Amino acid sequence: MRLIMLGPPGAGKGTQAARLAERLGVPQLSTGDMLRAVVAKGSLVGLAARDVMARGELVGDDIVVNSVLECIAEPGAASGFILDGFPRTLGQARALDEALEQARLGLDAVLELKVVEAVLLDRIIYRAREAKAAGQRVRSDDNPEALKVRLEAYQTQTQPLADYYRTAGLLHTVDGLMPIDQVTSSLFAELRLLTPVAGSLHLTGDI
Ligand code: ADP
Repeated sequence: MRLIMLGPPGAGKGTQAARLAERLGVPQLSTGDMLRAVVAKGSLVGLAARDVMARGELVGDDIVVNSVLECIAEPGAASGFILDGFPRTLGQARALDEALEQARLGLDAVLELKVVEAVLLDRIIYRAREAKAAGQRVRSDDNPEALKVRLEAYQTQTQPLADYYRTAGLLHTVDGLMPIDQVTSSLFAELRLLTPVAGSLHLTGDI
């Protein structure tokens, strides 16, 4: 299955994408993780991306699009993938559509997690505190200032994608405020509704 996870920062995309990926046996492709790996390598591109990300802004489409298109063309993604954090702009969505069309492939669904803004801030502050307590590095963009910019970027640049994919008949929205397991169950419930193929993907039963 070829899926996209859509939702604001802190909505739980990463957590849910990991669960879906494991259950469906397809790779989870997180552009946030890809970019953090590029930053860690300290290349020129990485250095440029580091500051943009720390501010909470989006890095340029060119950097992200190429990385994602390479990943989805790899043999590991032949039976599908879950995109987590991509596309985040209409330009990225169109580039993805074009690449899939050329490969004669299509998306199965776009899974949107809806969470109110006040909760997002709490979740991200909690995540940073937990990481610190566990002796892990706190993400440079997990602070209230950067989060404000990330939320603005989401609203202005990424939120329009909901309409884009709704028009394409691909959008499925799930309440991201429910407990983690219930969100996972709701996402699988949406996938089961998709096509008869979903029934053969061992999607029956509860999580
Ligand atoms: P979150 O979903 O919590 O914002 P991510 O780990 O997905 O976290 O992304 C972290 C940062 O990486 C973003 O704020 C942005 O700077 C950069 N980034 C990730 N994906 C993209 C993308 N598709 N396009 C542009 N920038 C991206």
